[in-house]
Amino acid sequence: MSDVPKSHPRYLSLTLRDRIVEGVEKGITSIHGLIAHGRGEAFDYLIGEKTQSFATNAICVAAAMLKLSNHPVISVNGNVAALVPKELIELAHILKAPLEVNIFHTETGREEKIRQHLLKNGADNVLMPSQDAQLSYIDSNRKYVHPGGIFIADVVFVPLEDGDRCEALRKMGKDVVTVDLNPMSRTAKQASITIVDNVVRTLPLLCKEILKLTNDSDLQNKLTHYNNEDILQQALQYISRSPDG
Ligand code: ATP
Ligand code: MG
Repeated sequence: MSDVPKSHPRYLSLTLRDRIVEGVEKGITSIHGLIAHGRGEAFDYLIGEKTQSFATNAICVAAAMLKLSNHPVISVNGNVAALVPKELIELAHILKAPLEVNIFHTETGREEKIRQHLLKNGADNVLMPSQDAQLSYIDSNRKYVHPGGIFIADVVFVPLEDGDRCEALRKMGKDVVTVDLNPMSRTAKQASITIVDNVVRTLPLLCKEILKLTNDSDLQNKLTHYNNEDILQQALQYISRSPDG
C-alpha cells in the first residue's frame, strides 16, 4: 500500500481493501466482491477486528471435521483468491484436498484467471466447474461443479459463501464449513460449522489447529458436542455488547 503509514489505526483494514481492489484489477475478484467485502468489514468492526472465542471454538471443531472427512474440498471464490491464496494452498496441502473454483459472476474468463492465480501462488491441483456434474437445488451457474471434487465431497470448506449454495450443499447431505463475518447471513445459519471471523485471520489458525490434531475418538467427540446455533448466538451477543464491554 503506497501512502498509508503502518502506524495508521486502520492500516490492516486498508491493506485488505487494497488486496481486494487489486483482485478486481487483475480480473480475479468480481466488482460485486467489493460490496461483499464492505459488508464483511462492517461486521469485523463489530467483533473488534479480532478472533473471538466463538470463532476459536468453531475453528477447533472445523479442524476436526475436516481431518475426519474422507473427501474434503476447498471451494474458492474471487474474494478469497485475492485475500488468502497462499493460505488456501497451505490448507489444501495439509488436508491433501483439492481446491475448486466456484463463483457466481463468471464474466470475462474469471474462473480461469482464479485458477491461474492459484497455480502462480503454488497450487498443484485446481479443479474447475464442469457441465458434467451439477448440484441439485440450485439454479445459478454455481450449480456446475467438478465431478471428482465438490460433487462427491463429504465436507466442503466454503469461506464467504452465498446462502443458496450453502443450502444446496446441505440438502445434498454434505457438511459445510464456512467463514462468514455475518452471523445472521443465510450461510452462517445453514452451515454445519460457521467460523464468525475474518478469513485472513481464520486460515492460519485453522491450518495450525489441523496440524495439532491427533486422536480420532476425541475428534469425533468434538463434532458430536458441537452446536452451531450456540456459536452464532455467542457472536450475536458479542456484537450487541455495551460500547465499553
Ligand atoms: P447470504 O447469501 O449467506 O445470506 P449475503 O448475501 O448477505 O449472505 P454474500 O454477498 O452472499 O452475503 O456473501 C458475503 C458474505 O461474506 C457476507 O456475509 C460478508 O459478511 C462475508 N465476508 C466478506 N468479507 C469477509 C472476510 N474477509 N472474511 C469473512 N467473511 C467475509
Ligand atoms: Mg448472498
